[in-house]
Amino acid sequence: MPSSAEDIIELEGHYVLQTYARPGFVLERGEGCWVYDTEGRAYLNCVAGIAVNALGHADPGLAAVLAQQASRLWHVSNLYHTAPQARLAQKLCESSFADRVFFCNSGAEANECAIKIARLYGHQRGVENPAIIVMEKAWHGRTLATLSATGSRKAQAGFEPLVPGFVRVPYDDEHAVRQAAEANPNIVAVLVEVLQGEGGIHVASTEYVRFLRRICDERQWLLMIDEVQSGIGRTGKWFAYQHAGIQPDVITLAKGLGSGVPIGACVAAGRARGVFKPGSHGSTFGGGPLACAAGLATLAAMDEERLLDNAARVGELIRSGLRDALAGVAGVVEIRGMGLMIGLELARPCGDLVKQALEAGLLINVTADRVVRLLPPLVIKEAEARELVTRLAAAVRQFLAGGA
Ligand code: PLP
Repeated sequence: MPSSAEDIIELEGHYVLQTYARPGFVLERGEGCWVYDTEGRAYLNCVAGIAVNALGHADPGLAAVLAQQASRLWHVSNLYHTAPQARLAQKLCESSFADRVFFCNSGAEANECAIKIARLYGHQRGVENPAIIVMEKAWHGRTLATLSATGSRKAQAGFEPLVPGFVRVPYDDEHAVRQAAEANPNIVAVLVEVLQGEGGIHVASTEYVRFLRRICDERQWLLMIDEVQSGIGRTGKWFAYQHAGIQPDVITLAKGLGSGVPIGACVAAGRARGVFKPGSHGSTFGGGPLACAAGLATLAAMDEERLLDNAARVGELIRSGLRDALAGVAGVVEIRGMGLMIGLELARPCGDLVKQALEAGLLINVTADRVVRLLPPLVIKEAEARELVTRLAAAVRQFLAGGA
């Protein structure tokens, strides 16, 4: 077994398909909001596995639940009933608008499910070639259908032919949706993030989200909200759509739901609820007892530890802290977001800032070339948030002082 960081990185270079550009250290363990590499260096994890580790690392309660579930029953497939799946579906419906849940393993799969619901819904209404409105800068996944729905040419390039049936419009633009509606009688649904993550932390206006609800009602479309990144408490409410006071027909979830154990869900209500019939869709692993136990433990801990309030309060503390610490610094364009989904936009590409942040003991992510994205665990404490602000503001100043 290789043990040094160099050996592990070399081994990986030989045997793992090289789809990621990773920094030169190996992470070994984590605790709370911190992770440690094989050399014992500590990093404050401001990425949380890309909005996944809601309860941070090595949460003792979650670890105990997983150990107990693993020693009882861990996989049987969807041919049989199991209690954790039924209980997690109940909890998700009670926390949202919804009546029914389909479980899968990832965000892309949850969106595939939503896309299939929309198409079947269209066919059931006599639309032969159903189309779904999707947004510029959207991110819905990397399977072929979700990549086609995604609004990133960079991610799509080379994988053509893309899946047809998507009509793309600019984000947060009511007029564009109305125009698309007039031009295309095949539209049956809108798929949208109310807060775009990968696209650069863009928050849709409340009026726009309410408008989408209205036009979907007028035209009998499904309003399908991708909450894969923004859901499960990250914005300070269970789901980001709740800030607009509307009810969608479908939401998709993954990331934070299992706090690191892979799980996805497509949650449906109203017009969307009765679309699938037995045999319409399925998954071998989706909704397994281990993943659903992780989901239940995550949601219970979020209630007990009041993590929605924490996300709202600490998120505001980080945003205001960064605004104060970077006030008047040339090259800082905007600090924005909701709860613990935060973007710091710079005036120029800042991929290299990731390295400077690492030297300062911070894991950060840069998306849309110029946006530092912060998605720390929902358990982050105020003292850790202050540490984050101090270290990041210093790294940003240093980076901006370094020129292009
Ligand atoms: N939808 C959104 C909004 C996302 O941010 C992502 C991933 O970043 C996905 C879908 C895809 O999720 P996954 O990587 O679990 O397939």
